[in-house]
Amino acid sequence: MGWLKVVGVGPGNLLDMTLRARLILEEAEVVVGYRRYVEWVLPLVNEGAIVVSGEMGGEVERAREAIKRALEGQKVCVVSGGDAGIYGMAGLVLELLVREGSQVGVEIVPGVSAVQAVAALLGAPLMQDFAVVSLSDLLVPWEVIARRLEAAAWGDFVLVLCNPASTQRKDTVMKAVQILEHYRSPETVVGLVRAAGQRGERVILTTLARLLEHPVDMLTTIVVGSSKTLHREGWMITPRGYRW
Ligand code: SAH
Repeated sequence: MGWLKVVGVGPGNLLDMTLRARLILEEAEVVVGYRRYVEWVLPLVNEGAIVVSGEMGGEVERAREAIKRALEGQKVCVVSGGDAGIYGMAGLVLELLVREGSQVGVEIVPGVSAVQAVAALLGAPLMQDFAVVSLSDLLVPWEVIARRLEAAAWGDFVLVLCNPASTQRKDTVMKAVQILEHYRSPETVVGLVRAAGQRGERVILTTLARLLEHPVDMLTTIVVGSSKTLHREGWMITPRGYRW
């Protein structure tokens, strides 16, 4: 019997991959995913396994291929970076399965998200309510993203900003900062982490006023503190509220 498992493989190093993800990779007959993720999980994959990898933008095609192979009886693992259900492949696979009425045993396997990995490197910024916003307007119009930023900023949430830039989008962070400035002081603590858990990992603690001085790319996540977030001895901490 074939199966289809959509597996979050963590932020980019084997230590942060769950044991469950690892066991599935070892058992899979077919591994499908974005080339960069597939390449780094390859050492864990069965030697005889078929690897179907491709570039960014080929997600729908890859999801279809994975479903087709599972329906044919193969054991298929779709790899997705971080957590598969956070801007990952889980939604797409389920949408396609539901739309096409395909009867295949499917499982979504959670992973350590970049959100968690980044927060841990910065300290403990997510100790109170937080919102995660993707700044990519590829699939969501900018007006919607701007409204969400505005609402989260108004609500004094800690804000995690994913997909801050790409080769096509250079001014997104600037537009986001312009919105946040209305609600947060220039001294608001901001953390930037690039390539968490990977070679070239970089952690920067700065302020909202100085955020734009730092380069960001597709592998960067930005955490904007709430009005309560502190910068103490190199750590970004949002106090939980305990009194002692
Ligand atoms: N499903 C993924 C998120 C995919 S969206 C997860 O749960 O982690 C892609 C965005 O996530 C990137 O643009 C970047 O903002 C962030 N990201 C992914 N991996 C990262 C890493 N290793 N370090 C820092 N940010 C990362």
